[in-house]
Amino acid sequence: MFGVRAPGRSVAHLTYDGLYALQHRGQESAGMAVSDGEELVVVKDMGLVTNVFNEYKLAGLQGHLAIGHTRYSTAGASSWHNAQPVYRHAGGMPFAVGHNGNLTNTAALADEAGMLPGTFGSDSDLLAELVARRLEGSGRAGDLADAVCEVLPSLAGAFSLVICDRDRLIGVRDPHGFRPLSLGRLGDDGWVLASETPALDIAGAIWVRDVDPGEVVVIDGDGPASRHPWPAGAVEPRLCLFEFVYLARPDSRLYGQELQGARVRMGELLARSAPAAADLVIGVPDSGIPAAEGFARRSGIPYATGLVRNRYIGRTFITPGQSDRVQGVRRKLNPLRGVIEGKVLAVVDDSIVRGTTTAAMVGMLREAGAREVHLRISSPPYRWPCYYGLDTGTRAQLIAANLSVSEVEEYVGADSLAYLGLDDLKEATGAPLAGFCDACLTGDYPTEVPVAVGRPLALPVP
Ligand code: SF4
Repeated sequence: MFGVRAPGRSVAHLTYDGLYALQHRGQESAGMAVSDGEELVVVKDMGLVTNVFNEYKLAGLQGHLAIGHTRYSTAGASSWHNAQPVYRHAGGMPFAVGHNGNLTNTAALADEAGMLPGTFGSDSDLLAELVARRLEGSGRAGDLADAVCEVLPSLAGAFSLVICDRDRLIGVRDPHGFRPLSLGRLGDDGWVLASETPALDIAGAIWVRDVDPGEVVVIDGDGPASRHPWPAGAVEPRLCLFEFVYLARPDSRLYGQELQGARVRMGELLARSAPAAADLVIGVPDSGIPAAEGFARRSGIPYATGLVRNRYIGRTFITPGQSDRVQGVRRKLNPLRGVIEGKVLAVVDDSIVRGTTTAAMVGMLREAGAREVHLRISSPPYRWPCYYGLDTGTRAQLIAANLSVSEVEEYVGADSLAYLGLDDLKEATGAPLAGFCDACLTGDYPTEVPVAVGRPLALPVP
């Protein structure tokens, strides 16, 4: 998500650049809402930022205020209707919402609002509808921030939000702060909100601070002002640990730490706890590379590029559909035979979720002549579904929920397999005492989750 209020600047171009920097967070659809103070115009479509927008469209989006969004669907179908920003007109006022995360109480919210299942397209659509109803019901045209603050305490789950009306930009982080959101300053009177700090950099904004968990930042002509709609006892920071492992860019800064360094440290600690007698260390592009560098540095084993990634292919992990994932890894990675042939490899990756991509990758390395493949994973086994904005599937689809470490080793075809421990992972973040969500690794969910998290149901399909 990206948001900017910057009179006198081309906010549409700034938003385009910001979304382009955040493309990795969602590749299904993209959109932006731009206000010139009179009209709020939304342009959105399926596809990448570069598919949805061109110079002609951007030139037609004039204004001083914009929000933007790239979508990766975790609730609701991947469709044009569910592309964001979501638009509503209520209480005499247009407004638009961009949402990162996943609400976990949509059924209860819809029920309370008297809405039938299927009458809203996604959790984000429901959220916008609740705000719109509050605006209509209050009869206080212009109080979007009030309406948002009244609705927020009823929401459960993960929600970082950017919202705008004709003149105000609003940023929200839920009381656990599952998903990141940063505030930046652009020149004398410009302000920017972004899911990750590189989007501030690309917009030319200076990072000011992260929006706090449980904070609403309302930005108008007087600059940002904070509101706190939740009671203090409800606020408990639990930033997603997987943002450090995989989700966010390596040049992002979270809890004051640049993630590239954190990922290198993960590899160093992995080499300490699970050394491998290998000729060569290779990393699985892209997010396994820094940990592989750390592993090689710590172990003293030479590091080399052993897998080439097609730069034009998106993330397989966040592509909907299992068959797309398997085909996606074949399209995405190709081994360098000249580098790996005859070698005993330590192969470092950030995670194994369903096992399908890992098994395909190990198979490719063996076909290319690797003598042995020792897999080292820079996070603990991923055993529990995420309900906070990562579509990792059910427990039945998570390989580590179904198989022991040695069984996973056999399933993916590795000669050995070892994972980084949870304490080492938190130490590697550089902020070990900060609040984290680690529910997918421990089953310790910070909030109630919508379905029973009982025993796994079935083995994944090889
Ligand atoms: S369950 Fe895992 S992926 Fe989901 S928010 Fe928590 S740490 Fe992140």
